Amino acid sequence: ARASAASAPITDGALADGTPVPLLANLGKPEGAAEAVTLGAEGVGLFRTEFLFLSSSQAPTVEQQRESYTQLLAAFPGKKVVVRVLDAGADKPLAFLNDAHEENPALGLRGIRALRASEDILREQLTALAEADAATDADLWVMAPMVATVEETAYFTALARDYGIKTAGVMVEVPSSALLADRILIDADFASIGTNDLTQYTLAADRLLGSVAAFQDPWHPAVLRLIREVGDAGRTLGKPVGICGEAAADPLLAVVLVGLGATSLSMAPTALADVRASLLQYTIDDARAIAAAALAANDAASARDAARAAAPEMK
Ligand code: PEP
Ligand code: MG
Repeated sequence: ARASAASAPITDGALADGTPVPLLANLGKPEGAAEAVTLGAEGVGLFRTEFLFLSSSQAPTVEQQRESYTQLLAAFPGKKVVVRVLDAGADKPLAFLNDAHEENPALGLRGIRALRASEDILREQLTALAEADAATDADLWVMAPMVATVEETAYFTALARDYGIKTAGVMVEVPSSALLADRILIDADFASIGTNDLTQYTLAADRLLGSVAAFQDPWHPAVLRLIREVGDAGRTLGKPVGICGEAAADPLLAVVLVGLGATSLSMAPTALADVRASLLQYTIDDARAIAAAALAANDAASARDAARAAAPEMK
């Protein structure tokens, strides 16, 4: 009812054999929700909450947060909406949370580490999310950024459930958590792989530093192997594994990610149409064969070439 009469209906994300691959939106503000729906987002795979915090010298109130989260959830009735709790530090510094004197902030008190050190902020955020959830009909999932250990997973999921969050998971964006995905996914209801940070930490190259930008390529087989670990763990334990880093927006890499075990893909809404069209060209067996070709390469460029050669339909 929401789509304009002029536009053809957009089908849900799926492979050629009908395997569903929900295509979700990465959003940074609730105001982006309407456009994402128009572009065919089946829900939200990553809602970054930093915007609420970045513009201010102190944390927003529970009421301010509840209003924003309610606005977001209300735009997706009956749909999955994955909200990430505050990811402060490194490329997203916050004056009131992060120590400005860290020499290596990407390796410092960021993400879940920073929230743990200021737990009142995390508790307020979970309070606001639970209240927004109660006021709307979306299927709210909540996840923590920069989780590196099984213990952090247990800490976050237990705390979130204390606040009434029904589906609590973690981002996998540190190699340690990819390698331990089979343990992490015992506590976590789901994993969402952040390929931007996972690539940065796997290749040990600052994602914002131009001089090492060539390393920031999620096609690197080392990154793909880590993603496979998570995909395998998800399949074994029957837990969803999403992708929410930029890699999911690359139409051919999206096929590889599904072949590695990703069960949903989240991206900038403008990328949805091309990824939807690409997935429809391949069966799950094709996707696994294309992923195997990429995995066997020595470097990112060869992985891309090998995937292209194994996926001849792709222009
Ligand atoms: C990522 O690291 O891939 C991710 C999705 O999170 P962000 O880009 O916000 O760090
Ligand atoms: Mg990240």
